[in-house]
Amino acid sequence: MSKNIKISLTPVDEALATLLGQATELNNHETLSLIDAQGRILAEDKKALIFQPPVDNSAMDGYAVNTQDVSSNQPFTLLPIQQRIAAGDAAQALVPGTAARIFTGAMVPAGADAVVMQEQCEEHEGGVGIPQGIKISQNIRFKGEDFKEGQTLISKGSLLRPMELGLLAAMGFSKVCVSRPLKVMVLSTGDELVEPGESLSTGQIYNSNRYTLAGLLKAMGCEYLDGGIIEDDFDITKQRLLSAAQQADVVITSGGVSVGEEDHVKNALEEIGQLTLWKLAIKPGKPLAYGEIHNADLKTPFFGLPGNPAAVLVTFAILVRPYLLKMLGATELAPSMVVGKAGFERTKPSIRREYLRARLEVDDANVSVITTYPSQSSGMLRSASWANGFAIVDANQTVAAGDLLSFIPFQALTGSH
Ligand code: AMP
Ligand code: MG
Repeated sequence: MSKNIKISLTPVDEALATLLGQATELNNHETLSLIDAQGRILAEDKKALIFQPPVDNSAMDGYAVNTQDVSSNQPFTLLPIQQRIAAGDAAQALVPGTAARIFTGAMVPAGADAVVMQEQCEEHEGGVGIPQGIKISQNIRFKGEDFKEGQTLISKGSLLRPMELGLLAAMGFSKVCVSRPLKVMVLSTGDELVEPGESLSTGQIYNSNRYTLAGLLKAMGCEYLDGGIIEDDFDITKQRLLSAAQQADVVITSGGVSVGEEDHVKNALEEIGQLTLWKLAIKPGKPLAYGEIHNADLKTPFFGLPGNPAAVLVTFAILVRPYLLKMLGATELAPSMVVGKAGFERTKPSIRREYLRARLEVDDANVSVITTYPSQSSGMLRSASWANGFAIVDANQTVAAGDLLSFIPFQALTGSH
């Protein structure tokens, strides 16, 4: 008689909610110059110190005038040129009945209410011919039109991209307070593992997970700590995890977390800390374990990722990365998604949500089409390198060609967000 094995897999969304509920912001900050702050998470709300533009200024090279001085009965009104205002000059008030030569970014003089493009004007010896039909406010960028002093423009928890760095500079800041990088230690379990560069004996493979994880961590601005390889031994696993927990803010292992006799990570965690999550409805990545390592007063978050390379990539992207971002104080935690049309079929539904290594490409008809790597075996390394993202197929879902699917582009994981 076959045993009735109870399969209870935690759905991905439920697991993520548990994880984010437990992730606590470290509140470990440092102040950096703007140049060094790219990719960091802002630790404070930023209010503008000034108005932008600070004064009304010209959006064009041309002439500043008062529209009341321009006749509507004749094609051009000749106005004498009373002053020349370049960007950076302090303008004097416009004398009524005159025009001021003005350049892009230069202060609009008091008394002027429009700027006329030089291409539309006629230059004469005695002044400038201003065409009729000038509209009040045309070609003027008004004080505070972009932002006003005291306005909060960038909130705590924002990722600092080049766009925010420019805005911060325009707001008047040379420095910003940001989260310090998280220290994350990566340990690889497995007696079969050998570091690349060494020679392989029969039965051995190169440790690839370490390099994938180091890259993923560095891409999100974490400090990667190398915890080496742990032998498949229960006591050694416990010792190594305890010591890792003293050195890092978060500890990540790969491998040894399933149900085989050589899988010691989950049992070790239960003895030296607490296991909160194990076995998720995610494919690949089912055996993922999450909990805490307890060492004296320290409670260090711990992720035991599966050993298969594709499972490492998926579980990191979907579960670990949002957790780490929350610890950094970030407000946007999920990787950004787009939608594409399935260029493939999937007739057999899975009870787990699948993250397929896939390519999203725009076809000749301008449609984003998703194709999948032929083998989705979680041991395959080439599939992820071929792919440019994950196509998501929900638990119990089948896919027909043309169905719309969510897709997570790898850029979200390989650049700074
Ligand atoms: P495990 O969960 O330890 O049984 O590992 C599952 C599969 O992943 C096995 O085929 C392992 O050899 C492989 N694996 C485990 N760790 C690594 C690693 N660091 N690099 C590459 N493959 C690994
Ligand atoms: Mg193993």
